[in-house]
Amino acid sequence: VSEEEKIDEYYFKIVLVGDSAVGKSNLLARLARDEFYPNSKSTIGVEFQTQKSELSLFMTSANDRLLMALAGNKSDLRDAREVSTAEGKALEEAHGLFLIETYTLDSSNIVDAFQTVVKEIYNILC
Ligand code: GDP
Repeated sequence: VSEEEKIDEYYFKIVLVGDSAVGKSNLLARLARDEFYPNSKSTIGVEFQTQKSELSLFMTSANDRLLMALAGNKSDLRDAREVSTAEGKALEEAHGLFLIETYTLDSSNIVDAFQTVVKEIYNILC
């Protein structure tokens, strides 16, 4: 491969944090395999380890090499909505987050959401 043909490779880690049953596993399944499990059991703890962290700990250990996005999932369940877009926007502004509304029944917005996060990480770090 000539110098011009070399493609830079980057590895970014994305950690999904949230209450049990909010849809983290399905977000990942949608992104990685384009699958959705309507009757999946919610994940308790963490899929690959059992350590739990307070969300505040995560925020205080953040530095400028960390991008935080807030995903409001299950946006298809309009009637059962618990957090308004306005509340999400307020959190976004107060904590310097990056707000995304997702809906794991539909794959297109999930891929867009993750691509947007990756682009933002690239813009910050590269
Ligand atoms: P986790 O514990 O955060 O990993 O949550 P899961 O991914 O296991 O999802 C918990 C439940 O919510 C499962 O029954 C999913 O089928 C359901 N679920 C996940 N995302 C959505 C969504 O966007 N819309 C709806 N209606 N249900 C969802």
